[in-house]
Amino acid sequence: MRLILLGLPGAGKGTQAKILAGRQGLLHVSTGDMFRDAAAEGTALGTRAQEYMTAGQLVPDEVTIGMLLERIAKPDAQVGLMLDGFPRTLPQAEALDRALAEQGSEIDAVLYIKVPEDELMERLTGRWSCPQCGAIYHTQSKPPQVAEVCDECGAALTQRADDQPATVQARLDTNREWTEQLAQYYRAQGKLHEVDGTGSPESITGRLLEALQGVSLQGRKA
Ligand code: AMP
Repeated sequence: MRLILLGLPGAGKGTQAKILAGRQGLLHVSTGDMFRDAAAEGTALGTRAQEYMTAGQLVPDEVTIGMLLERIAKPDAQVGLMLDGFPRTLPQAEALDRALAEQGSEIDAVLYIKVPEDELMERLTGRWSCPQCGAIYHTQSKPPQVAEVCDECGAALTQRADDQPATVQARLDTNREWTEQLAQYYRAQGKLHEVDGTGSPESITGRLLEALQGVSLQGRKA
């Protein structure tokens, strides 16, 4: 099965992609994580991507498409895919469709997680994480016991550079139009499933699984 999670930044794609990939036995592929890993390693790709990420802009298609297609051609990706944060533009979606068609496969379903923008703004600007153990906090919904200190390991919490308010607004502006165009593209293919992304993470997972039950896998190859 090959799935795409679509939604604006902060809609919960990362959280839900991890849960669904685990449950369905799919490889979770996040282009945002790939860029952040490359930036942390200091590779040429990472350094270039970092400039766009910090500005809240999209990394250019020619960089992103090549990186993603290379990743999904690897043997461990043949079990099935849970794509998170890709495609983000129409050319990316078209390149993905072409590459999968060459392998004799296709995207089975696109789950579009919808959340009102004022809630996205609040979610993203309140997000802090621990650079040491990876624990994630939120100033409103999950504050640490001591401000800016990790409950788990005591390290100082950090905010993703692109979760700062000015960048968050830029990220929403950058992604809004593309997300609608992608929704339209997959709607025309009959693959789009819109899911309410408000409420608890568990309730959202429940809605996503429900949407997946209706997905016809007839005709897919491996
Ligand atoms: P994310 O973690 O998915 O919010 O991605 C973080 C940042 O990585 C984005 O704001 C973009 O700068 C970049 N990025 C991630 N995925 C893509 C993509 N498919 N196309 C272009 N840029 C991307």
